[in-house]
Amino acid sequence: MNKPETILSRSPVGWLTALLMLLCLSTPAWATMPDATAIQAAIDKAYADYKDLEEGANADYIPALAKVDPNVYGIALVTIEGNVYTAGDLKTVVSIQSISKVFTMARVMDESGPQAIYDNMGVDATGQVFNSIVAIEQYKGAEMNALVNPGAIAATGMVQGDSYDDIWNSILGYYSEFAGRKLSVLEDVYTSEAATNQRNQALAMLMYAYGRIEGDALQATDIYTRQCSVGVNAQDLANMAATLANAGKNPVTGKQVAKSENVPEILAVMATAGLYDDSGKWLYRTGLPAKSGVGGGIIAVSPGKFGIAVISPPLDAAGNSVRAQKAIADISNALGGNPYLVQPL
Ligand code: GLU
Repeated sequence: MNKPETILSRSPVGWLTALLMLLCLSTPAWATMPDATAIQAAIDKAYADYKDLEEGANADYIPALAKVDPNVYGIALVTIEGNVYTAGDLKTVVSIQSISKVFTMARVMDESGPQAIYDNMGVDATGQVFNSIVAIEQYKGAEMNALVNPGAIAATGMVQGDSYDDIWNSILGYYSEFAGRKLSVLEDVYTSEAATNQRNQALAMLMYAYGRIEGDALQATDIYTRQCSVGVNAQDLANMAATLANAGKNPVTGKQVAKSENVPEILAVMATAGLYDDSGKWLYRTGLPAKSGVGGGIIAVSPGKFGIAVISPPLDAAGNSVRAQKAIADISNALGGNPYLVQPL
């Protein structure tokens, strides 16, 4: 009696196919990204689920931010292969605000090494609000991080350049390479924040008094204010996050923007202090290094997989976009984005 013909009995091609099928079946869900349809479905679902959510309020301590349309809601995800998935508003440009702090810190690391950040403002959570004077006083401007205002202004003061324009062009050019297009400042936001940033000036002078800023502390504050006013849409921010997910190489333009060896340190500070006082809660929910800004944007990085960004201006009490947190957490968790999710041996 003839044996029934199976895929294995046919040819070497049959054997190869069977082996591939076996490999696919034994690959854990978290080891690979789901297919394009599943990624788009996760994004569409998060968009629909939170589109009509009316929680939170725009930041208003910077007058220009209060005027931004609270209904703006855009989602973009970019994989390390450079594949782009989106939903909602990708056109509206908002100010990058505190998300900029990640990229200025990265610039300093590229120029002076990660140890320079560690030695100056530090890499620890402060347990205080992002513009706390107490946090400076506690350890004389150390034992904090480059994602709270005093540490961020000090980081801006560390960017190399012979003049205001040199430093500014270096920062803006660097951000633009992350975004994959030439970014520019939203002048109305800059003017509004520059007229109301006396507290940041005070933080900078205190950092200067403790030797954490060398040179002109008020110039550093002004450049910092300008960097916070850079306009970005959800696609720009997702490209920036995806560049970090891809070891510093922009997956859309193919350009190595940041030194790959510094990316683990950049992501470590984001994980520690990216979402203000709720950074622990965020990491607990998602495992993702992330950074939010009072303009309503959040970026998050799934290392080796994707970068994701959501823009939605209404913020919760901790200062993080309500819709962005929910959407990113749902999408990443649906796609197995949590880097701590591993299979036991
Ligand atoms: N430019 C803002 C400030 O210095 C940034 C705050 C933020 O986004 O957390 O207050």
